Amino acid sequence: MTKPTDDTRQGTYRREQWRCIRCGKNSVTYQHRQADGMGGSRKVPTCVDGVAACLWCNEGFEAAGQTEALVYGWKVRRWVTDAGAVPVFNKPLRLWAQLMPDGGVRILQPRDAHEAMRRAYGSEWDRWVDELQERAGFWPLLGMDGRTR
Ligand SMILES: [Zn+2]
Repeated sequence: MTKPTDDTRQGTYRREQWRCIRCGKNSVTYQHRQADGMGGSRKVPTCVDGVAACLWCNEGFEAAGQTEALVYGWKVRRWVTDAGAVPVFNKPLRLWAQLMPDGGVRILQPRDAHEAMRRAYGSEWDRWVDELQERAGFWPLLGMDGRTR
């Protein structure tokens, strides 16, 4: 993945209203959702390939916060061929959305977002949810009506 163009970067920040997608802080950096594949890709990122995150959260997504980032679609496994099929949860706004290449969004009902996660990852997504729950001691925020099975 090459660097995002200024338009893509600004479109991504605008979509998140210049707030971190995890904590809401209004100082954002560009977070690539997918790590570069082997050998590096020449693919030019669109607005589906990144989210806005503060520096602290952005660094966490690569470390202790990786499971949370996968549960919420802020990070996408590198083998996923269509990052746009993996929805994103905007935690401050408590909204799931499918991202569009032009920076638009399609708001999803939580149950539809959870199903899209399972289409992408199978039961692994539920294991990540369980892992988050065990670590935090409470159910992770998965949308207004909680977890759906
Ligand atoms: Zn943050």
